[in-house]
Amino acid sequence: MAIATTNPATGEVVATFDELAAEELEDKLARAAAAAASYRLTDVEDRAGWLRSAADRLEADTDKVAVMIVAEMGKTYRSAQDEVAKCVRGLRFYAEHGPGFLRDVNGDGESVGARSTFVTYQPIGAVLAVMPWNLPLWQAMRFAAPALMAGNVGLLKHASNVPRCALYLEELFREAGFPEDVFQTLLISSGKVEQVLRDPRVAAATLTGSEPAGRSVASIAGDEIKKVVLELGGSDPFIVMPSTDLERATDVAVKARTLNNGQSCINGKRFFVHADAADAFIEKFVAKMGALVVGDPMDENTDVGPLATESGRQDVEDYVQDAVDKGATVLVGGERPDGPGWYYPPTVLVGITPEMRMYHEEVFGPVAQVFVVSSLEEALREANGHPYGLGSNLWSEDEAERELFVRDVQSGMAFINGNTTSYPEIPFGGVKRSGYGRELADLGMHEFMNAKTVWVGE
Ligand code: NAP
Repeated sequence: MAIATTNPATGEVVATFDELAAEELEDKLARAAAAAASYRLTDVEDRAGWLRSAADRLEADTDKVAVMIVAEMGKTYRSAQDEVAKCVRGLRFYAEHGPGFLRDVNGDGESVGARSTFVTYQPIGAVLAVMPWNLPLWQAMRFAAPALMAGNVGLLKHASNVPRCALYLEELFREAGFPEDVFQTLLISSGKVEQVLRDPRVAAATLTGSEPAGRSVASIAGDEIKKVVLELGGSDPFIVMPSTDLERATDVAVKARTLNNGQSCINGKRFFVHADAADAFIEKFVAKMGALVVGDPMDENTDVGPLATESGRQDVEDYVQDAVDKGATVLVGGERPDGPGWYYPPTVLVGITPEMRMYHEEVFGPVAQVFVVSSLEEALREANGHPYGLGSNLWSEDEAERELFVRDVQSGMAFINGNTTSYPEIPFGGVKRSGYGRELADLGMHEFMNAKTVWVGE
């Protein structure tokens, strides 16, 4: 895939970038190794100060960066501003709490015959981050902020369609005062990831993206015995029980499926509605999905912009066509509009069966599948029958139902009466084919640290 900025609203190629030549890549890896050797010994309060400075700079750049995000991947300007604000919050969160997460944890020395014993968290070196385009700043930031706070060095291989966002991040950290080469962007194709990951100067990797990319990186990391964190796909269940406020639940259902133009791993994608609430839910949901404004992502009245790539839109169309061919019914949407740009309307389908591809896979666009169920147990059986297990959502006022949901749902995150969202303050991640490991909070920071046990005798 060429490294280029192509505006999804017009299809116009705005800028192209050369991939790093072999000697340039070698130079960057050598610089990363040199930076890692000294950066790991820097004072944690200095690191926190650089993170604060990055937050202030990014906040001041909000509008400029939001325009850049819109031009590279097509989300609405409002949503791009929110993404920048979340990155600022993440940087400030790790500046404030990172030093606490890095404190030694004392153990019971006496029971192991020591004067003292403790665990001390130490950086591991250069970490490669292979990142997707859908939240081009936030996905990279939730790796970068904890990694830099931890004393690790970052190497970012971003998706090939967001090179400007990738280069901006390198510049941001440099200008914020981080030592030279502590965070570098590698403009390389996915075919070069193996070489970088096998390089002995690279200690570990984190990948956010599709299942095939995750499988490839995990098997290389396994072969090299290097730590890897995987944040892969999702087809999150959104379960609606009769006790809930359907006005609120449908407002959030619409947001859940169309946020980021329907291209988020944690979008609610499969809606399981109890039969007693089904007619009312479907009527409201379809009306609200159909009322969304699809159009120019820079227009403040737009709710849903274009999909990020032409091939991405084709994939969405193919999923819908496959379902319709096999008997599904489209209640709203389902037809691409004429004209330039990779637009696709909010779409609701019923009558989805296991013969259809979307039943088992992930549709990365604003397409909702609605299923009517007769009990929470049936909803959970269906939800858990999917190969993915990223986020999950329950709408219910019933305590027993909430408890059953939390205990039984097979997902890394369970949200009740609220939309699944990532926050710097709480861990994020999945189970099953959605990947393993955690990002954010203290867990995300400790993933790429050596929890070193220290035993001190008399
Ligand atoms: P993708 O094709 O897997 O690309 C993601 C990144 O991996 C890009 O940098 C890509 O580089 C690289 N890549 C692709 N194939 C690779 C391979 N074989 N070896 C090494 N690197 C490879 O995914 P996408 O289509 O951009 O993103 C959508 C997917 O990401 C969805 O499945 C979504 O659910 C998932 N996602 C998950 C999370 C989460 O936190 N769980 C968050 C966001 C998105 P190139 O661009 O150069 O191909």
